[in-house]
Amino acid sequence: MKKIISGWGKIEPISAQAYFPTNLSNLKKLFNKVDMIFRGNGRSYGDSSIQKNKTIFSLRFNKILKFNKKKGKIKVQSGVLLKNLLEKTIPNGWFVPVSPGTKYVSIGGMVASNVHGKNQHIDGCFINFIKSIILILPNGEKKYLSKKNNKDLFYATCGGMGLTGFILEVEFDLIKINSTTINQKKLYFSSLEKLISKIKKSKAKYVVSWVDFFSFNNNKIKSILYTGDHYSKNEYIGNYSFKREFLINKYIAIIVNFFLTDFLIHLFNKIKYFLEFKNKENIVDLNNFFYPLDGLINWNTIYGKKGFAQYQFAIPYKQASKTIKKIFIILGKNNLKPYLVVIKNMKKDLGTLTFSMDGISVAIDVPNKNNLKSVFKKIDKIVVSASGKIYLAKDNFINNSNFRKMYKNYNEFIKIRKKYNLSFINSSQSIRLKI
Ligand SMILES: Cc1cc2nc3c(=O)[nH]c(=O)nc-3n(C[C@H](O)[C@H](O)[C@H](O)COP(=O)(O)OP(=O)(O)OC[C@H]3O[C@@H](n4cnc5c(N)ncnc54)[C@H](O)[C@@H]3O)c2cc1C
Repeated sequence: MKKIISGWGKIEPISAQAYFPTNLSNLKKLFNKVDMIFRGNGRSYGDSSIQKNKTIFSLRFNKILKFNKKKGKIKVQSGVLLKNLLEKTIPNGWFVPVSPGTKYVSIGGMVASNVHGKNQHIDGCFINFIKSIILILPNGEKKYLSKKNNKDLFYATCGGMGLTGFILEVEFDLIKINSTTINQKKLYFSSLEKLISKIKKSKAKYVVSWVDFFSFNNNKIKSILYTGDHYSKNEYIGNYSFKREFLINKYIAIIVNFFLTDFLIHLFNKIKYFLEFKNKENIVDLNNFFYPLDGLINWNTIYGKKGFAQYQFAIPYKQASKTIKKIFIILGKNNLKPYLVVIKNMKKDLGTLTFSMDGISVAIDVPNKNNLKSVFKKIDKIVVSASGKIYLAKDNFINNSNFRKMYKNYNEFIKIRKKYNLSFINSSQSIRLKI
């Protein structure tokens, strides 16, 4: 079927042939030496899961195959959504060891991006908890991958952005929880240096900060640091279900987009900071702590037809505050003010194309304007010169040359693609990056 598809940021949608295989033999019939890419639930922001010829969705591979409720081990098909998985595991006292900021991702997408969570500085990326993967190569061959079997493909598949084959099944460990709540603490800062220093020192399991770009002035910038740990008191979890969430219809999206201006975001941020300031420590539901944006399921539509970009980079600690400020100055001067800025802590972790490094991760959401691409190009150079990296799951624009400077193992990845004859798997992103 022909379908208009894009990444979550809705920048440059394309008309693509979309396929929704329901079983393995359906899937294999699609492998006929024509360029293709795989797609889960389309929550990657850029062009990593789109491709004009053939975009193959995993969403009908949506079965939970095994769930050991005593040991917290689970085996699922790749198209299972994290939300559906959590609805099964939380009532039994188990949570995912690593979670992105939305539960509307597929497990296959979590593997292909080797996602990180607010606990990356402690637990690393998803790869650490994956026991095995069943991967289908373009020649139809089924490969069993683990840290011991087909190691090279295992490490290339976790974080390989779908470029090593179709992830069919994933087996991984969960973590035990005694409660569905998080003990959250908040700290307030007006200096980036102090925020980063505290982020680095924090011993909490989960650490994330919200930064108000609009308060950036003479080296001062307001931020709130949220730290959290699973509440340790035993409670009967039983019937946990997620709160009702809302879909924004297209008329509401148009109206909100009309009001979505720098002025109103500035005001919104001031109000948020003022309201939250009173509350220094509280117990919050895990849905509110991990997935605050999911309350409005398709919130990405409020950015209008042009969409928005999320630009996420990691940067070594030493260069962090200087580099972030440099980037903020450029964004401000070019009238590309981020509506959302999130800063987290990171440590170096496994994966051939790993994004992780010892340092700080910064994610900014910027509405799309005509100068976006050219300004991001300037920022890419700053990130490269500070030995930083851009996260491929969020990327729309980086060029092949900067990619190679950021991802030093790119050659190893290309070799694996050659070894297993993966040249028919290509996304718009992989074509741009020449991998
Ligand atoms: C609000 C929000 C918050 C987020 N927060 C975080 C965060 O905190 N940390 C983080 O790491 N990421 C985060 N992300 C990004 C998101 O976790 C990743 O982009 C994830 O890969 C999306 O999963 P998906 O199922 O939507 O995959 P898609 O977007 O559909 O695809 C992403 C990649 O996975 C590949 N892929 C998908 N399924 C398969 C399969 N079955 N076989 C082979 N390849 C496959 C695709 O080819 C593509 O390269 C966030 C995204 C959003 C929208």
